[in-house]
Amino acid sequence: MDRNQQLFEQAKTIIPGGVNSPVRAFGSVGGIPRFIKKAQGAYVWDENESRYIDYVGSWGPAIVGHAHPEVVEAVSHAAENGLSFGAPTENEIRIAEAIRHIMPSMEQIRLVSSGTEATMSAIRLARGFTKRDNIIKFEGCYHGHSDSLLVKAGSGLLTFGHPSSAGVPEDFSRHTLVLPYNDIEALEQTFASKGDSIACVIVEPIAGNMNMIPATSEFVQAMRRLTDQYGSVLIYDEVMTGFRVALGGAQSIHGIKPDLTTIGKIIGGGMPVAAFGGRADIMSCVSPLGPVYQAGTLSGNPVCVAAGLKTLEIIQRPDFYNTLSARTLELSKGLAGIAEEANIPFTSRSIGGMFGFYFTAELPTCFSDMQRCNQVLFKEFFHAMLARGVAFAPSAYESCFVSAAHNSEIIADTLGLAAESMTEIARTV
Ligand code: PMP
Repeated sequence: MDRNQQLFEQAKTIIPGGVNSPVRAFGSVGGIPRFIKKAQGAYVWDENESRYIDYVGSWGPAIVGHAHPEVVEAVSHAAENGLSFGAPTENEIRIAEAIRHIMPSMEQIRLVSSGTEATMSAIRLARGFTKRDNIIKFEGCYHGHSDSLLVKAGSGLLTFGHPSSAGVPEDFSRHTLVLPYNDIEALEQTFASKGDSIACVIVEPIAGNMNMIPATSEFVQAMRRLTDQYGSVLIYDEVMTGFRVALGGAQSIHGIKPDLTTIGKIIGGGMPVAAFGGRADIMSCVSPLGPVYQAGTLSGNPVCVAAGLKTLEIIQRPDFYNTLSARTLELSKGLAGIAEEANIPFTSRSIGGMFGFYFTAELPTCFSDMQRCNQVLFKEFFHAMLARGVAFAPSAYESCFVSAAHNSEIIADTLGLAAESMTEIARTV
């Protein structure tokens, strides 16, 4: 038994499923999850000392590469001055300013410790601000695991086939209206019949939790128009796409100004930091200014904020996104070319440093398209690549991420290994 297997067996005796977040368990691809010992740049090493080119990137945060020396130094320096104070610090102002500079729609910002907390708080705020209960979300979009958002969510919930979660009272989820993604007609009809009761629309403007599926520009415009018309709050969940698809997130690509935005992952540079923010009139409803309660013992933690601030500094350096986007495109196009040669139905797309690939002939545009992808081929490709030292996300419903440390040579290595893997799996088509 190898060490990953040994540790997985041990972990299962004390941690449910052996993992602290479900997708890590390899449930949909089978096999043994790799227990990671260390990470550096574009690589991770498991407990067997095997090295992998990593396209999971801690599920998004690792945009400057793992253990970037400047980030590590900032964290060590901050840690020397104390791990947590539970009091305001100057760096909380600096990081909020840095975020607002990049995403001007976030006029006021509150820091939290996870994407789940950010979206949960933004929904509560939208309800408090509008004094309405109903919310609209879209099929296949994942916004963390708070009760009212666990309805037809993406990510691990799709992987495990749960349309929703046990333990969520019907009374909670009945206020969550779930509509198909990219379907303007369904959105218009819902607003026409229930518009006055809708507190907010929450959306991943480029969905990353049913693999990667961007909203069309018509769809984002319709969301903005209808929320304006009915006085509902438009919440962009950019926990994944913020600083990832472009410096200014999906909102900078579509040219849409949401009322509230949630961000996470990259703003902590690998440490637990997330945030919600937006229009000052809405944010002034948050406690202690207003009646919407929200709090956190470790919110704005000084060590985490130091990692985030340094990461935000690095990603604003000249050409960061040009290079990142070019490399990601090279990989995404390269994979498609290789699949074509191997005669495997396959498509891919990339935006900034995020990409998706799909074992189907046409690019999916909504959740039901995604469900038609060939899961068996995904699984075989995933394992063929893992065996060769390339780690993609262990589910067909996840997006993948490139970092600044993935140089041309590493992308070329990946494509070489992908060619071998595609030839291997082509035998089963
Ligand atoms: N929103 C989106 C779009 C996400 O992708 C995620 C996590 N992948 C979350 C919210 C929840 O964030 P967290 O896991 O930090 O709670």
